[in-house]
Amino acid sequence: MSKLKIISVRPQWQQELAQSFTDPQQLARFLNLPQQWVAQHEAARRLFPLRVTRHFASLMEPGNTGDPLLLQVLPHANEFIEREGFITDPLAEQNTGKNGVLHKYKSRVLVILRGGCAINCRYCFRRHFPYADHHFGQAELAQLLTLIEQDPNINEVILSGGDPLMATDQHVAQLLTKLEQVPQLKRIRIHSRLPVVLPSRLTESLAQRLASSRLQAILVLHINHPNEISPQLTQALLFWAQAGITLLNQSVLLAGVNDDAKVLTELSEMLFSARVLPYYLHQLDRVAGASHFAVSDAVARALLQQLQANLPGFLVPKLVREVAGEPSKTPL
Ligand SMILES: *Cc1c(COP(=O)(O)O)cnc(C)c1O
Ligand code: SF4
Repeated sequence: MSKLKIISVRPQWQQELAQSFTDPQQLARFLNLPQQWVAQHEAARRLFPLRVTRHFASLMEPGNTGDPLLLQVLPHANEFIEREGFITDPLAEQNTGKNGVLHKYKSRVLVILRGGCAINCRYCFRRHFPYADHHFGQAELAQLLTLIEQDPNINEVILSGGDPLMATDQHVAQLLTKLEQVPQLKRIRIHSRLPVVLPSRLTESLAQRLASSRLQAILVLHINHPNEISPQLTQALLFWAQAGITLLNQSVLLAGVNDDAKVLTELSEMLFSARVLPYYLHQLDRVAGASHFAVSDAVARALLQQLQANLPGFLVPKLVREVAGEPSKTPL
């Protein structure tokens, strides 16, 4: 057997993941950014490390220190700003999901399939508890199945993280096989940003496995800016859509990134071109170190009005915030 065959056993997306940037100066060189400028901000690395795939970096504009994709991942001195109300655990979840299961909403149960992630977004609440080692194993699965059995209201399982698509196709398929045997379940939902930073993660085999399931499958992407939708991503999404997977998107409203009606309008248009419907536009979780991304509710509402004027209703996302203890996301 040739060596090549043995090497190719590792999926392409995992190979790409291993080549991610973790050093700000290395990213600066790749993008031709002023090294001094990057050095000025580099200290914020110790608050939360830099992590970005080469694919995502390739979508940034060289030389542009204000690039909307760069701002989402590059450590920045503003992260040292302490602002009232911005705390380490804004959703009060640090103690809820010890076994990797979060059951806050009546009909849906959320499973932390994998704690890890392929990118470190500066505004993420994971920055304060990266639960990197978390792995959803047999014990967690047994607990999940018991929870569902005891509560007939649950009809949907949401795979989340971290990023659930950090799990292998086999791991997802194994879980799916178990869930398919629970008659009360109707849907399986995957919340993931991985396809955006690694389009190769959208394997055809996973799409086919999900499409052939008794459970209706939904993929909720996390895309914040039209520049994140590369031709490779669009191509992969079209395959998933054709296979029969429902595609939705959620965005986070971020100052300096997408707090602009023109940008959000274009995002909705581009999503629909890739067969994705806008679902949620989230107000930022008030996490310590991310206050410079916050957009006021007044500005958020004004943006939504502009979107309503610019777009058909089905391309206007719901503007929501997550409030700890509420029975659903809260519309603004
Ligand atoms: C957001 C969220 C869900 C899903 O909510 P939908 O409104 O159905 O998209 C489920 N569980 C938890 C814990 C959540 O934070
Ligand atoms: S992809 Fe999602 S979970 Fe991962 S760092 Fe970004 S916001 Fe957080």
